[in-house]
Amino acid sequence: MQKKEMERVHKCPICGNSKRKKIYNSNISDFSSDDFNITDSQYGKTWDFYKCSNCGFYYSDPTPSAELLVKIYSAVEDPDYEMEKRGREDNFKRIIKRILKIKPEKGKILDVGAATGIFMGLAKENGFMVEGIEPSKWAVDFAKKEHNIDIHRTDLFSFETDKKYDIITFLDLIEHLKNPLEGLNKANSLLKNDGILVIVTPNIESLLPKIMKNRWWHFRPPHINFFTNRSIKYILDKTGFEILSIKPYHWRFSLYYIVSRFSTGKKICDKIKPLKSLLKFIKIKLYLFDSMEIYAKKRDN
Ligand SMILES: [Zn+2]
Repeated sequence: MQKKEMERVHKCPICGNSKRKKIYNSNISDFSSDDFNITDSQYGKTWDFYKCSNCGFYYSDPTPSAELLVKIYSAVEDPDYEMEKRGREDNFKRIIKRILKIKPEKGKILDVGAATGIFMGLAKENGFMVEGIEPSKWAVDFAKKEHNIDIHRTDLFSFETDKKYDIITFLDLIEHLKNPLEGLNKANSLLKNDGILVIVTPNIESLLPKIMKNRWWHFRPPHINFFTNRSIKYILDKTGFEILSIKPYHWRFSLYYIVSRFSTGKKICDKIKPLKSLLKFIKIKLYLFDSMEIYAKKRDN
């Protein structure tokens, strides 16, 4: 794929203001669907990013077109993602506990960008009714086989249903959307009146990106926009949500996953198998404070 398949974005996709400041310069020349894997380790690869002077939203310009994104995500195959199943399950168990605190009756969940269905499988085990949306054929086939769940092979914008959901989850999703405003409006329309939305997304104005600059691990080709505490509040208010809580999100990974994100680390582990097994066994919780976990309720109106 070439950069010419990109589209220009002349104004903020959230508030429509055209005043902006350039924050990061792109260092991506060419990309393929492999660059869009969840476990992709090409940290520090970033698009041209602008910060909206009005609402503080960070967006890429130029950016992959919506059609190109669907094409890319449909083709994603990422076997490494399942490798970290246990670490991811720990992250997701915490989210399920928090959902139950807000909504103790186990309702119907729609997981958007469900990947291989790890969250859905866990929610199902916990007694929820689950449905998911995922464009990748590979991930959908895997999820169906592994978890026996109802997962639709499509993207959020093409998804059509008459059903309404109690809970919608956007776990590491919104930073991948070309139009997050449309995405949240769609989520609002799919929720029941007392429905809740859960979002996990990087916070670009946290400490780590300030220290690491272009080397921040969330700078990767699939992340085409970024939120801050202020802009996430703004967009949720604009799309009819009332925020219940915003917490820092802590990742739990095996030491192997962390080490293998660096190509030298991966090479060493692949050569020394016992080391790989040992590192896979050691789980580390990373208190990076660079992602947000947001719970919001559909506003009555
Ligand atoms: Zn804006």
